[in-house]
Amino acid sequence: MKKSINQFIVYGLLGFLTLVGCQYDSQEVLEEEATEAVLERVDEKWLASDSHPVVQLLYSRGYERGTIYETEEHFLAPPDLLYSKNIDDYDLNDMGNNGAEQAYNTGKLVSLERMRINVFLDNSLGADLQTQSVNAMNALNGINNCALFFVRVFNANQAHITVRSDFGVEPTNVLGRAGFPSNGRPFDTVTLNVDRLDDFGADIRRNTIIHELGHCVGLRHTDWRANRESSAVNIPGTSENDSGSIMWHTINGGNPFTNGDLTAFRALFPRALRVDVVNVIDDYDYSGEIYVLDEVYVDVFTDGSYTTSATLNRNVRVNYKLRIQEYNHTSGSYTYNRNRLLNSGSSRYYIDEEEEQCSPYQGETCTYEEVDITYAFSIL
Ligand SMILES: [Zn+2]
Repeated sequence: MKKSINQFIVYGLLGFLTLVGCQYDSQEVLEEEATEAVLERVDEKWLASDSHPVVQLLYSRGYERGTIYETEEHFLAPPDLLYSKNIDDYDLNDMGNNGAEQAYNTGKLVSLERMRINVFLDNSLGADLQTQSVNAMNALNGINNCALFFVRVFNANQAHITVRSDFGVEPTNVLGRAGFPSNGRPFDTVTLNVDRLDDFGADIRRNTIIHELGHCVGLRHTDWRANRESSAVNIPGTSENDSGSIMWHTINGGNPFTNGDLTAFRALFPRALRVDVVNVIDDYDYSGEIYVLDEVYVDVFTDGSYTTSATLNRNVRVNYKLRIQEYNHTSGSYTYNRNRLLNSGSSRYYIDEEEEQCSPYQGETCTYEEVDITYAFSIL
């Protein structure tokens, strides 16, 4: 039986006054502490400036004036969302983006060739929230036929997502905060209200982290419409009334996932993809003629650990860029955006070819082509 903590949030705000006292045995220790001048990070937030282009964009997506706050690093929007301050992280041509708008919302998703997601757990979480973060990652990794594969890394530079303290920014009714993917990559930060989460048990602490990681890969709130959040696309087989959902806007205790959640994760992230470039022709001769032909394939795996090959179980659209570099007489570079539909049923798919050709001694133009997947997503 799941129990919503909504009531705690609404009615329980005045119930706590936590006294944290450091007790020292001697005057000597006190003096040492004083001279060490321990600097504890405390972040500030303030009402966001209306004129910032990202704030303007958020207003255009339905947020009300006066509801967006700002820290040094992010914009904060209700109920638990972070937004990058860099306007380049936003796709300003959101409409009609090759069907890329799916999930419970306009939120972008993590691309299927990026299903291995490295997570760094900052020391500011403390030991127990680090443990609960690992439990959250294990819960998500344990959903079969869902390709998301979260890996804890101990070097912050390797992280796709950093989970850290809110450093005092959040009010008591916000337990965690995260944002949505951009350019097929997960949102890079989860903040947790460490002080407030101390008031809750292990399952609420873990489920809060699962919820925020869900935002990082692109899931919206199950109850986005009732919550009057900007428009979302529903996932077939899921319900907006699934109040036990991990993506409900308030956190539930108990087992994290409803059947609707499992349906959603499996629909959005059915398999992990990996590009394989195979050389077909290598032709170099004494006069400097070059001709190289490579074929580009996509291989299918059960998840982002890329250990087990699998058959694609849903149709997937792969958007890719073919970049062509010309040099010699007509230097220039060109980009063509293309896509391939991968029909379910195979474990390996041909995408396109890459070519390099040059005959410099005959004064010809040399060209070099490269294929880059920009966004691969499951078709709902
Ligand atoms: Zn949320």
